[in-house]
Amino acid sequence: MAEKNKKYIFVTGGVMSGVGKGTTCSSIIAILKAKGYKVTAMKIDPYVNVDAGTMNPTEHGEVFVLDDGMECDQDMGNYERFLESDLSSANYMTTGSVYQTVIERERALKYRGKCVEVVPHIPLEVIKRIESATKKAKAEVCVIEIGGTVGEYQNILFLEAARMMKIKYPKDVLVAMVSYLPIPDKVGEMKTKPTQYAVRTLNSGGIQPDFIIARAERPLDQKRKEKIATFCNIKEEDVISAPDVESVYHLPVNFEKDKIGQMILTKLELKKVDNNMKKWNQLSDKIKKINKIVNIAVIGKYFSTGEFVLSDSYISVIEAIKHGSYNNNLKPKLTWIDSITYEKNPSKVEELKNYDGIVVPGGFGERGIEGIINAINFARKEKIPYLGLCYGMQLAVIEFARNMAGLTRATTREVKENSRYAVIDIMPEQMKKMKTKDYGGTMRLGSYKALLKKGTIAAKAYNDTVIHERHRHRYEVNPKFIKDLEKAGLVFSGFSPDRKLMEIMELPKAYHPFFVGTQFHPEFKSRPLSPHPIFNEFIKVAKEQI
Ligand code: GLN
Repeated sequence: MAEKNKKYIFVTGGVMSGVGKGTTCSSIIAILKAKGYKVTAMKIDPYVNVDAGTMNPTEHGEVFVLDDGMECDQDMGNYERFLESDLSSANYMTTGSVYQTVIERERALKYRGKCVEVVPHIPLEVIKRIESATKKAKAEVCVIEIGGTVGEYQNILFLEAARMMKIKYPKDVLVAMVSYLPIPDKVGEMKTKPTQYAVRTLNSGGIQPDFIIARAERPLDQKRKEKIATFCNIKEEDVISAPDVESVYHLPVNFEKDKIGQMILTKLELKKVDNNMKKWNQLSDKIKKINKIVNIAVIGKYFSTGEFVLSDSYISVIEAIKHGSYNNNLKPKLTWIDSITYEKNPSKVEELKNYDGIVVPGGFGERGIEGIINAINFARKEKIPYLGLCYGMQLAVIEFARNMAGLTRATTREVKENSRYAVIDIMPEQMKKMKTKDYGGTMRLGSYKALLKKGTIAAKAYNDTVIHERHRHRYEVNPKFIKDLEKAGLVFSGFSPDRKLMEIMELPKAYHPFFVGTQFHPEFKSRPLSPHPIFNEFIKVAKEQI
């Protein structure tokens, strides 16, 4: 028996990536939670990076940060948004981190002279982590997403872990496959063959899926269900149709229409059944009814992969804007603007007049920042609601310093190492790390407490004066310039308890309707059923511009 009352659902991918494995897992989590179970989720990433922190967002999408500072895959954000609770580093692993542990253990003679082998020692470490994360979360069910698609070399050892667990605890472990059914334009028919191959590949690793989630542009018809059932050795009712939806927040409701929750509980021999989908039903209905649009420009630098625009780099920002918008009975229309555009052609910023609000998300390095500063300048002067997140806050401080505080050469140490006007500077302990090239997992990461100044936009939005928010940065507002900036009218409405680090900047309402920047990333804590107060307030003010 697996540890008493613990159940595990492995979710694998077939055919191709990017078809919504993460949101499928998230929906299963939301549904099982609504049925009264304590659920947790894990993401396994097959790459050798020890965590996601060293990857460029255009490589692998957003780097999501947990309370304990873990830099992980964006899917962890999806899980938290649907689970409505915080996860920890125990819920995330990569090939690199697993090997690291096994090698450290070997070096410490913990294998007692044995030959340490890829199989079984790597999958055994994977299983150990899954079991301990489930225990730590006091969960009854753990949903484990195996990154990538079956057939890749990279995730074989994780599939092996699933196989080993299923053999050992047949009644406590399920394996699902999220597959894709293309409808080629020229053929005009939904094709099941790629899914058949994917299942066969999974079979060759000794695993038969217990159910298949069939992602496609359209719902599956009966004929396709029959075909998948026949060729993939599965019952028709275990093939779940998952057509494209307008919003991922319809997914739990849609999946429940297919009774996926009950199907899973029956297979796992779990009896208790509440049915508390009310909140998800209400949210889904609300989204369907909204017909007013709020136009938001997102100015960033991590959009392109080849010839494609990749909004995945900013997924939590996008979701947080949606949460704030839905709460204000609006649907956001987001426009992606590559900041390079405003660097090459500064007068083009005039087009920002057409937006109800402007967001500048986090970022690193020199490329495109003068374009962003131009845009911020326009937003400030034209009184367009502005929300700056991390780098977006730092660049707003630079813009203000240059144009309002007379520090015309203001910059950040990140861009100009020897500047005398680094209004954004590096923290001393960070300096040491940079010198020794100790880059991985060494930024100011995770949740820190901050205090808010009474009567400010921030304090009013939070309706509180103590907050905890997640960070991911090396640079800070330089204390040397705080007085000058304040004298020129900038308000630091949030700061660390020792008052050394500036956490929020804003302009008084009398001067600008909403010009706010946060050194932390509020987007990581926004959830559809509880929108983040800063995003909510930003959209509320943007609504007045419509
Ligand atoms: N590059 C900036 C820093 O390291 C901002 C980081 C971010 O936006 N996440 O401080």
